[in-house]
Amino acid sequence: MNAILLGPQGVGKGTQSEIVAPQLGLARVGTGDLLRAAIRAGTELGRQAQEYYDRGALVPDDLVIGLVVEKLREIAAATPPLSGALFDGFPRTRPQAEALDRALGEIGQRIDRVVDLDAPRPVLVARLTARLICGNCQTIYNLRTKPPRQPGVCDVCGSTDLRQRADDTEEAVVERLRLYDEQTQPLLDYYRARGVVREVDGDQPIDRVTAALLKALA
Ligand SMILES: [Zn+2]
Repeated sequence: MNAILLGPQGVGKGTQSEIVAPQLGLARVGTGDLLRAAIRAGTELGRQAQEYYDRGALVPDDLVIGLVVEKLREIAAATPPLSGALFDGFPRTRPQAEALDRALGEIGQRIDRVVDLDAPRPVLVARLTARLICGNCQTIYNLRTKPPRQPGVCDVCGSTDLRQRADDTEEAVVERLRLYDEQTQPLLDYYRARGVVREVDGDQPIDRVTAALLKALA
């Protein structure tokens, strides 16, 4: 089985895919990891990817798809056997989804399930704007989930310079979420037309989200 986990920043996608993938015998496939591994291993595709990085250019979709296909062959041959792949953060666009479908078709596979893990925008904005960073030692805090022991003081170095990063202001977060929706909607429509999408509510305790995900992926 191959599945895709979709979700905006702050919804807990990374945490959840780390929990559910091993329980289902799925290999997590993130394209960032694939690219880094190929570059480290010095494969032909890795060398090509390195050239794009060196030029500061975006790695083209067909190169990424090539890496995905290599990975799926590896998964098919794994010992102990794996039951498939859980794609995390890929595909992001409809053209990528179409290219992935073509590539999977060529090796007799397909996307069986797409899980849309989401939460109301105000919940995500509250989560994402709660991050603080120590201006002195760069330790990261979260006012909701990992606050400093003494308000306004860094646990590690004692600095009182705890600040919000420019990326985490409400304005920046709202814009990032808007871009996510703009890009993801056509992708969801594409998979909805195939009847493979399941919705999971990310605005509940972690273990409840995990249970809902396991059900959606079963
Ligand atoms: Zn500090």
